[in-house]
Amino acid sequence: MSLIIKNKKVQSGGLKRFSLANITIVFIGFVCVCLVGLLFLHLVEARRYELKVAEFASANVTRAMAQQAEDTFDEADLVLEALIDSLGANNYDAQQQLRLHDVLARRAQALAQVHGFFFFDAGGHSVVSSFGEKFPEATVADRAYFKYHQNSDSLAPLISAAIRSRENGEWVIPFSRRVNDAQGHFNGVVLAAIKMQYFDDFFRGFNIDADGAMLIALSDGTLLVRRPSVERYIGVSLVDGEIFHDYLPHASSGNARITSKLDGQVRLFAYKRLGKYDLVVAGANSEKSALNEWYNTAVRTSLITGGVIAVIGLFGCLLLIQVRNGVQVEQSLREAKGMLQLQATHDSLTGLANRRLFELSFSLEIKRCARYKRPISLVMIDIDFFKTYNDLYGHVAGDQCLSIVAEIIRLCSQRTSDLAVRYGGEEFCLLLPETDATGAFAIAERLRLGIIERAIPHTGNPLGTLTISLGCHTFIPEGNEASSDIIAKADTALYQAKNAGRNTTQVFADMA
Ligand code: GH3
Ligand code: MG
Ligand code: MG
Repeated sequence: MSLIIKNKKVQSGGLKRFSLANITIVFIGFVCVCLVGLLFLHLVEARRYELKVAEFASANVTRAMAQQAEDTFDEADLVLEALIDSLGANNYDAQQQLRLHDVLARRAQALAQVHGFFFFDAGGHSVVSSFGEKFPEATVADRAYFKYHQNSDSLAPLISAAIRSRENGEWVIPFSRRVNDAQGHFNGVVLAAIKMQYFDDFFRGFNIDADGAMLIALSDGTLLVRRPSVERYIGVSLVDGEIFHDYLPHASSGNARITSKLDGQVRLFAYKRLGKYDLVVAGANSEKSALNEWYNTAVRTSLITGGVIAVIGLFGCLLLIQVRNGVQVEQSLREAKGMLQLQATHDSLTGLANRRLFELSFSLEIKRCARYKRPISLVMIDIDFFKTYNDLYGHVAGDQCLSIVAEIIRLCSQRTSDLAVRYGGEEFCLLLPETDATGAFAIAERLRLGIIERAIPHTGNPLGTLTISLGCHTFIPEGNEASSDIIAKADTALYQAKNAGRNTTQVFADMA
């Protein structure tokens, strides 16, 4: 009984160990998944941050561009307005022209962005300019800005698409105002030619990556200046581009992630429509450059994390091997222990309980049955004429015979609390807890007849086959009985059976 309990305990320990292997796998897997998850979250967050920084940088560049563009035209506009005021008298005599030329030349020299200042009369002929020589035969009547002012009553300043200067062929942006006479009729145009080179230099001062882009365009989408500067793009229309087509109609400033149709680069644009002038400015960093550092960090971090995961995986494998080895060792120890326990408590020839287990169980059962006032029976068994059997058939056959008898005894003790014992030599006993005298006698008789039925030849026995003699003793224990006294009583009954001619069962009768 105790053996069974112990075995169960050992098995549950084994289950725990088995679970430990599974727990190890789950834990290592969990740690690896957590590491990959954390890396992923970190990289996603870091990427988002880098893009935000790039967007922020683009927005800053765009704000600075807008301010600079406004300042550039404001400074020129002050001169144009002063010029219009000076022209108010409407008599451009030679002296006044000379005085105006001096003023305009000084202003043009003072303003780095200005190529030149001009006043053209209603026919488009230059009346006065910041340049020394005049070209009375030349006319700007064909220029778009001149035609605009000619046909529009608006006195607001106009910025037009870039043109090549007729003075020196330089690219300039015309910045003009209409001039009216005293009656409000068209009387000419004042013009500030803004150097495109000025914007190129100005753009170069901005901290923007090599694949970035900057541009200033008219509100109608006509490109004025661009970085990188490509001459063939000057004056092209961006009206179908994403900024003008998709973003500006909804917000006059903002951010836009745009894939270039020209070079396939993804750029993070910030754009702004100027409040004062008909201009749109936009600046962009390329996404690739913005994420360059992030990409390098991502590769480094991923490699390190991969290494850590590999080490954890390796450690996990080693741990798992250790755990599995431990389980195997424990299994072997458990088996060895079970074997030792079996050997210590059982007879090696017959497999029945040995005397040690019998004595241990007997004293336990005496106490238990005493507690519940239940009877215990003990049946002592001895093979008849066994010495002769050995003499006739030999010791090996004698051992085989003992095994057969033990098997029959085992079959007769069917309750789990029954204990079949090889008491010594060719003597056996049956411990039958909670069995009264009638029951014990019945079992003893069934056993005796079972041996006869088996008909093991024994010519030394008067019956011709093997027989056994049995002595029974039944008692209700008080709890303090000595097992040797009980055995002695059962033995007495067995002795009586021998004396009664053998092959019989005797019950101990207390003469006292
Ligand atoms: P009885 O009918 O009075 O019991 O006569 P018996 O010959 O059986 O006498 P006893 O019970 O004293 O028998 C003991 C004999 O049992 C001695 C020995 O030859 C034999 N014996 C005891 N142990 C073993 C064993 O392990 N193997 C074999 N083969 N024989 C054994
Ligand atoms: Mg004997
Ligand atoms: Mg005998």
